[in-house]
Amino acid sequence: MEKCVFCQIVNKNKPAYIIYQNKDVTAFLDINPAAKGHVLVCPNNHIEKLNEIQHPSISNALMESLINVSNLLIQSGLCNDYSIVQANGDSACIWQNKST
Ligand SMILES: [Zn+2]
Repeated sequence: MEKCVFCQIVNKNKPAYIIYQNKDVTAFLDINPAAKGHVLVCPNNHIEKLNEIQHPSISNALMESLINVSNLLIQSGLCNDYSIVQANGDSACIWQNKST
């Protein structure tokens, strides 16, 4: 799924500042951060929506990565408190300009 910008980043075909990566998940800084420390956490295999995850190993890897990335942000001094937002599909992105 190389048309997908997230897959391009995961496969290192598009530059990004990757802060965490394992065999299942890649986390990188958002190019247009909504807040300091805005990180995107993506499965390494293309999955567009949460309900499309078919293997518990992937959902477990995602949750473990969210915890690890949260600890990285806290240990770096960027934050003590944090939000985790999970968007499913283009119209679910709550921080995008809805006027377009
Ligand atoms: Zn993708």
